[in-house]
Amino acid sequence: MRIPTEQPKATEHIDLMIEMISELIKKGFAYENNKHVYFEVKKFDEYGQLSNKKLEELIAGSRIEISDNKKSSEDFVLWKPSSENEPSWESPWGKGRPGWHLECSAMSKKFLGNEFDIHGGGIDLIFPHHENEIAQSRCANDTKVFANYWLHNAFITMSNEKMAKSQGNILKIKDFRDKVSGQVLRLALISAHYKQPLDWNDKLLDDCQNTIDKWYNVYLPSSKALDDEIIQPLYDDINTPGYIANLHKLYDKANNGNDEDKKIFNTACNFIGLLQETKEEWLNFKKGKVDISETEIENKIDLRNKARADKNYKEADNIRDYLLDKGVLIEDKDGKTIWKFK
Ligand SMILES: [Zn+2]
Repeated sequence: MRIPTEQPKATEHIDLMIEMISELIKKGFAYENNKHVYFEVKKFDEYGQLSNKKLEELIAGSRIEISDNKKSSEDFVLWKPSSENEPSWESPWGKGRPGWHLECSAMSKKFLGNEFDIHGGGIDLIFPHHENEIAQSRCANDTKVFANYWLHNAFITMSNEKMAKSQGNILKIKDFRDKVSGQVLRLALISAHYKQPLDWNDKLLDDCQNTIDKWYNVYLPSSKALDDEIIQPLYDDINTPGYIANLHKLYDKANNGNDEDKKIFNTACNFIGLLQETKEEWLNFKKGKVDISETEIENKIDLRNKARADKNYKEADNIRDYLLDKGVLIEDKDGKTIWKFK
């Protein structure tokens, strides 16, 4: 598993956000009123470019807000007082907290610079979140560009319902990691184009698992130059399904062909983060997944305890190893044996 180089926390960068707000006020893009600070949208000519919205439409379409702190309804908050049960920080505008768009502008500046290449996010964040990030960053940093490319992904659905915290159907990668191989997850996630919704279900994971399993038949780790023709779909707005289609063709060739074909296939898989485990690691992972019912596990543990009571330690160890082989870890604790999948 590869960990991100940086995993910054917003609460550790409040000082940078305050700095950015001060800069925006100094440059005339933001104003303070009654302990609130707002970004004055009409001061930034290019506001709305990312989401293709016109300022007049935003003003006309915005709900009338019960706030006489703002000059205009489309202005968005950079700093506001916290209510009693909310966290707060000291600032030149009183105790409070930053507006939620600001953390991205402040932390991207620190870790990536005033301009950077790729900004990702879900399609629901284009407006207002990303639009506001651009406004804050470009005005504070005096740049023509914030991010060079925006990659907005469609949602993952479960049984065709949007995955959302409020729906209670959130899947977390960490819940999968013990059960599903990382490369199966990867293949499943890239099986749809990032702009297309992806429906997540057991069949998808089974299919991907079977595909990877089949591909390991021609496993031959290598590093070859790949023809442009193979990579072409990725140049086309990261068309991952197109690339996977090429992998299937290369597999067929490798399966009927020579080592050279296998090497090309393996390199092409590695290129997109697949087949990076050795065949042995893959087989071990699969072995760990061999179905064993909880009843069988409990029965084996009973047999092991009986063997231990009879001082037949060899038999007890054999049972422990058998379970370990099935991916089950057992632990003796307070006179009881507990188990878990490793
Ligand atoms: Zn953001």
